[in-house]
Amino acid sequence: MDAAVHVLVFPWPRQGHINPMLQFATALVDTGIQVTFLHTEHNLRRFAQAHPPGLRLLSIPDGLPDDHPRGFLAFMESMCTAGSAAYRALLLALLSAADAPVTCVVADGTMPFAIEIPEEFGIPALSFVTHSACSYLAFLSMPKLVELGETPFTADDLVCSVPGMEGFLRRRDLPRGLYCTEQGDGDPLVLKFAEAVGRTSKACALIFNTAASMERPALAHLASGTSDVFAIGPLHARSSSAASPSLWREDDGCMAWLDGHEDRSVVYVSLGSLAVITHEQFTEFLSGLAATGYAFLWVLRPGMVKTTSPALLGEAVGAAEGGKGRVVEWAPQRDVLRHRAVGCFLTHAGWNSTLECAVEGMPMVCWPFFVDQQTNSRFVGAVWKTGLDMKDVCERGVVERTVREVMASNEIRAAAQAMAQQLRLDVAEAGSSSSELERLVRFVRELSVRSSLKPRINGN
Ligand code: UDP
Repeated sequence: MDAAVHVLVFPWPRQGHINPMLQFATALVDTGIQVTFLHTEHNLRRFAQAHPPGLRLLSIPDGLPDDHPRGFLAFMESMCTAGSAAYRALLLALLSAADAPVTCVVADGTMPFAIEIPEEFGIPALSFVTHSACSYLAFLSMPKLVELGETPFTADDLVCSVPGMEGFLRRRDLPRGLYCTEQGDGDPLVLKFAEAVGRTSKACALIFNTAASMERPALAHLASGTSDVFAIGPLHARSSSAASPSLWREDDGCMAWLDGHEDRSVVYVSLGSLAVITHEQFTEFLSGLAATGYAFLWVLRPGMVKTTSPALLGEAVGAAEGGKGRVVEWAPQRDVLRHRAVGCFLTHAGWNSTLECAVEGMPMVCWPFFVDQQTNSRFVGAVWKTGLDMKDVCERGVVERTVREVMASNEIRAAAQAMAQQLRLDVAEAGSSSSELERLVRFVRELSVRSSLKPRINGN
């Protein structure tokens, strides 16, 4: 263990942020660096599985009672007040520890306070971006987009204020909040994210869980700014057992169910850990899926369909005409995507899900829900051509047609498999992402040595 280097890794406390940052923390531990991983108390209590060995775990309160639903804005508010105060106190204690004080922080790019507080104390802080580089660039461009009236809306006109994407990015592909009006710039969620991205982009380095082969133009543009940029992903592909402890209990029974199906005969359906849909949208998806005639495995988290209990949803899926569906509350997704029986993934195009598909060469049908997903899905459909993008439409006819087309398309499958092959090279020794990870580890060591030479916070 390298005693001079101690990195504190602090993810935004949501599943899709914890997974890649935990994989990153594990990669640091593998190089001999001491790492402390910071959870919220609420999340640490919920984790069913153990964490990878060698990581020290700590937690802070998020300021909300255990039974609080933790909706987006209330959660953000509480993390920025109670969470931030607890983080400040913990960081002070960790910086002045007699034994191995923290020398560097890597914090989620969604939380400006998590980067600004260590900088106040003279400790270097790097921003870890769990979204795609292309959507990050779109968020950074938000002030310009608002100025020109190019705001998120269900329209096909091209936008010209996101560098390098002028030829294909439409208003409907811009990051979106929970509602989409023609004055989409007023959506508080998008504005908050854009503000956070603007602030954290000033960190001394930006770390992306992406590969240059997927997002070269966006990364090149970001690298022309003042921060150093590292593209080190997809991190989960570094090892087949890469860490991703779940906040929900995985239903492994679906693997045996998949074993009983022909190759590429099943549609896997999941909208990630945050999306909430209406009962009407659920019904459109169900009717469309049933009409394809394919078997499908559908992740329906408790509370994911507004006003409907999980039992009623399960019954509806079982009773669907021609339906051959199986419902789980949470699946071992990476194993599912690797299973020979799965032929395509109907997904919300969250960045982790997109990367997990890309690594397995799995064709995608995208129905983006919010934030970065609108931009990711445009890249899937129009740039990488590894799937089709339903965008803002989930009528049953469109679901049926799009799933059928993706299941049958040799072109889409070939593009997905070519991308998977390239990504395997990127994460292998001497590949571009591996080399970037090595460069990042050197960078973190240098910063840490410099910071450990400074006087400690307690004046020793
Ligand atoms: N996931 C899982 N089982 C499920 C659904 C999702 O393990 O049933 C994992 C998935 O593999 C991914 C993460 O949860 O790593 C979701 O992250 P993503 O960025 O795709 O979406 P978000 O949840 O942030 O919207």
